[in-house]
Amino acid sequence: MKCSDCGEIHYEGQLRRASWVCRKCSFHFKIPARDYFDLLLDPGSFQELYADVGPVDFLGFRDTRSYSDRLKATQKKTGLTDAAIVGSAAIEGMPVAIGALEFGFMGGSMGSVVGEKIARILDFGRLRGWPAVTITATGGARMQEGILSLMQMAKTAGAVARMNRDGVPFISILTNPSTAGVLASYASLGDVIIAEPKALLGFAGPRVIQRTIRQELPPGFQSSEFFLGHGMVDIVAPRHELRSVLGRLLRFFGAARPSTEPAGQDGVIAQPAE
Ligand SMILES: [Zn+2]
Repeated sequence: MKCSDCGEIHYEGQLRRASWVCRKCSFHFKIPARDYFDLLLDPGSFQELYADVGPVDFLGFRDTRSYSDRLKATQKKTGLTDAAIVGSAAIEGMPVAIGALEFGFMGGSMGSVVGEKIARILDFGRLRGWPAVTITATGGARMQEGILSLMQMAKTAGAVARMNRDGVPFISILTNPSTAGVLASYASLGDVIIAEPKALLGFAGPRVIQRTIRQELPPGFQSSEFFLGHGMVDIVAPRHELRSVLGRLLRFFGAARPSTEPAGQDGVIAQPAE
């Protein structure tokens, strides 16, 4: 397999052992959402939640193909109902609420289901005093759901605001790419924002910005490292260090608060299933 950054040729087995990181230039290949669970979570601790929340083509949207056909084909290909996988888990023995976006499902785009599942898992963590961790790999909002997709930005940002109010930590991990409506909502609202090296981060693409502001963009614009240098990201950590970074942060935040402590109930979208 060829590194899309430096062109180095790798054997697939070697890449897998190196967590899909190029040994020459440390470019991070895309990996499935579930692979992050294997890398970050205590073995066997992940329990999926809200798996039954599925998408509906409420607009009867059609481009070259109908949205319902696209959904069916993608569901068959990925074995997922939509682009978000969320659940409860543990990292170094500490409980967390975790959510990840699967780029292989329509570019990890955020429609109603992704917004709802992310908001629910943040509420699930908040009500228990468990820190929440999200991992994004996404092109942004799902255009096939129109304005209902953009509404998910407010829904997820609202869930983060409730976490802030109740003092429950939220850690956002950005991987390549994390852009547009997802970056402009919950993904950039973490108490701590971690990015994998060389990830493409941003709202609009560089060509659109360049044409709008009619200025040359600085070198390395919209990379993790550029974001770090400009205070938009707190930590750039290579994939194999993510778990230990998370462990350190969770201990720093005092891990889970006692579950007897009442958390705010207002604005809850759905009571999490026990
Ligand atoms: Zn490379």
